[in-house]
Amino acid sequence: MRVATCPACGKQFKAATDDELVQQGIQHAKEAHADQNLNDDQVKQIVAQSARDE
Ligand SMILES: [Zn+2]
Repeated sequence: MRVATCPACGKQFKAATDDELVQQGIQHAKEAHADQNLNDDQVKQIVAQSARDE
């Protein structure tokens, strides 16, 4: 599993691939952090920097 942590609230995401983590992150950003206006590329970057194997 690949695991990433939301830098804003610490919520953990788990998925089989980084692509799925990005999809979860985009959804989470819209639901929980709409005020931060994160675009898809920023979410991708966060996942690329913070995702790890578990
Ligand atoms: Zn969050």
